Amino acid sequence: MKIRNQARRRALIRAAAAGALSLTLAFGGAFGGVALAGPADDITLGIQAPGPSSAGTGASQTGASGPAGSGQAQQGGQGTAATDLSFYNQTLTDPIVRPVDGYSYDQMLADLTLLAARYPGQISLQVIGQSLDGRDIYDVIVGNPSASKKVLIQGAIHAREYIVIPLIMQQIEYLLAGQQGGGTYQGRPLSELLSQVAIHFVPVTNPDGVTLSQMGESGIRSPQLRQIIQTAYVLDTAEGRTQLGYDEYLRRWKANARGVDLNYNFDAEWNAINPALIHASSNGFRGTSPLSEPESQALASLVTQNAFSAVVSYHAMGRVLYWDTQDNLKAAESYEMAQGVAAATGYSILGSKGRGGLKDWAQKTQGIPSVTIEVGQSMCPVAFSEYPAIWDQNKAVAAYLASYVLSH
Ligand SMILES: [Zn+2]
Repeated sequence: MKIRNQARRRALIRAAAAGALSLTLAFGGAFGGVALAGPADDITLGIQAPGPSSAGTGASQTGASGPAGSGQAQQGGQGTAATDLSFYNQTLTDPIVRPVDGYSYDQMLADLTLLAARYPGQISLQVIGQSLDGRDIYDVIVGNPSASKKVLIQGAIHAREYIVIPLIMQQIEYLLAGQQGGGTYQGRPLSELLSQVAIHFVPVTNPDGVTLSQMGESGIRSPQLRQIIQTAYVLDTAEGRTQLGYDEYLRRWKANARGVDLNYNFDAEWNAINPALIHASSNGFRGTSPLSEPESQALASLVTQNAFSAVVSYHAMGRVLYWDTQDNLKAAESYEMAQGVAAATGYSILGSKGRGGLKDWAQKTQGIPSVTIEVGQSMCPVAFSEYPAIWDQNKAVAAYLASYVLSH
């Protein structure tokens, strides 16, 4: 299977290099948006912080002045006649990343190959692990790879939240284009900022789950994994955990290909997470032990091998930010970072304390400030009609995080 996968990837890369991939233009449709406001996706185990609102966690946090320029930067150029050189507002004449509904893992691979070819020396790709169904998990480094300040931005650890993949890919492309083309951030050359920081992007942490949610069971190659998925459906149905038909059940899948919820698989109060759920499921099963899964292991290794100053996870949905966990070693820093992300995105800050996620583990065991960003407002998978708004709200986030870690 490994060999077949390698061959498949090489073929894909050849196809991409030859320009043989046909890409659908993204922004053709109406952007009406389906406004189905509902509870955020990832708060099921949240414990509401005592006190009024999420901000009520202490004077030292609420009193912290906003991170430099987080508000002004996003309005960059407003009120002046000067041309807006903010890198994220520049028009790319021939963009490589073209967001489409169901932008896939394979599309990501093809686009990464093209980005590496167009921006040599500005981007580096490394494989940090392999999923159960044999897909490589990529770490994409933009900026100065040997900089002492490092940021990690990861996404799609939950399968059905794949709308974050084109978002992260566009963040990468705009940084590269802005760095090359004289773009600015907060009035300063972006290239100057990127020379001092390494931004690591993991656009897809759970490639099997994403493919399952997008393509159904045929997206999974291993017969054993397909069997596990079918059994999960039988058990979830029998126990009343789902009443959906099989196709819709798969479309709303969050876990990896053997039914482990990867964002409950980290060692952060892991024992307390859904202890009664002891089998594979579309969501909510913590696994047989912390870091039992290759996908969570890959992320954990990346974090322990790099001294990240910030770890940020993209999820969907709710247009909210989570910044806390029990025994958070970096509560003040995480909250301050959340304030900056809130200023950039317009999202609300929530105080629930997460468990078992990358953020929670980074905060309480690695001592790294961390924030989870939940994009979109319609039920997952988030309607693609929301994508232009999601991009607009998040286009400055990576640069903000880079400037945040440089000032701390
Ligand atoms: Zn999620």
